[in-house]
Amino acid sequence: KLVELEMGEVENVRVVVRVRPMNEKETTSAFKSIVNADSVSNNITVTNPNAQAGEPPKSFTFDLVFGPDSKQFDIYNQTARPIIEKVLEGYNGTIFAYGQTGTGKTFTMEGNRKVPEMNGIIPNSFAHIFGHISKAGDNVKFLVRVSYLEIYNEEVRDLLSSDQSARLEVKERPDLGVYVKDLTTIMVNDTDHMDKIMTHGNKNRVVGSTNMNSHSSRSHAIFSITVESSEEGDDGQQHVKMGKLHLVDLAGSERQSKTGATGQRLKEATKINLSLSTLGNVISALVDGKSTHIPYRNSKLTRLLQDSLGGNAKTVMCANVGPADYNYEETVSTLRYANRAK
Ligand code: ADP
Ligand code: MG
Repeated sequence: KLVELEMGEVENVRVVVRVRPMNEKETTSAFKSIVNADSVSNNITVTNPNAQAGEPPKSFTFDLVFGPDSKQFDIYNQTARPIIEKVLEGYNGTIFAYGQTGTGKTFTMEGNRKVPEMNGIIPNSFAHIFGHISKAGDNVKFLVRVSYLEIYNEEVRDLLSSDQSARLEVKERPDLGVYVKDLTTIMVNDTDHMDKIMTHGNKNRVVGSTNMNSHSSRSHAIFSITVESSEEGDDGQQHVKMGKLHLVDLAGSERQSKTGATGQRLKEATKINLSLSTLGNVISALVDGKSTHIPYRNSKLTRLLQDSLGGNAKTVMCANVGPADYNYEETVSTLRYANRAK
């Protein structure tokens, strides 16, 4: 499959699924694993723990399916790598992690950045980008810039700004397209620097919240990298290419309104559901290819990512699920969402 992907053209939108392993609590409490992932046929089945007699498991097929034993680097090579290659050629790309809280979105995107084999997609793309730059000839000049923001309650917060109380405006200009006014962008020269910026932004996520876990499960974090290269061609002219990569750790997809939320919480839940369902609608409209209207404008998330979703841009959605029986409803709901997006 990898060889095929490396040699062939990358599809514009791909949807993959990753099942995390049972955790210690699930194993010791004797929860049953109800998810079966087949990474050869890319089929995934989920058995209803309260199945009526004769009820078959629900079955879904995706572009790629990763089981509980999958390694971080396999995920990188098979999902992210082709996109980063494209970004280095001047295309835009977006990688999303979708799923219920606790299913491995942050593990997939970031992983443990201190342990090389536990590095997720984000640190691996840093290494990939700067590896590419170090191998390029002296006639190519690169400019790499990053920004890091969070969308919470349909409000945009700059995770790299010293003023964490500011809410930024989303604007549009014919020459720039959609952009975030006053968003901090930082020029970066190496992997270490990029990593420090990410750590700094992650700290700001915590500062702005009272409970990191519940906060990160209700906000979308977007780490964006712009790679600009300028190369002198045989014609003596400078050829400039610019690619943008968005790495998105989405808010938890669990249906929060069901948990009896009221007031502020309910308002948040409605907004999370709005942006996740708009994202699903946008991706399925893009995949469908026949839609004349793509509803980018219906949420901040899709509006901000508009120039990196659709057109020539490359998108991967990684849907994460847990294996255990008590998550049956959420797991099926995630797979249905991902199935619609494909
Ligand atoms: P989310 O961001 O979706 O809420 P996390 O990435 O924080 O979920 O994952 C929840 C827990 O499960 C973390 O402790 C994480 O390290 C662990 N985990 C998730 N996916 C895997 C995996 N594929 N292998 C091992 N541990 C994992
Ligand atoms: Mg997370």
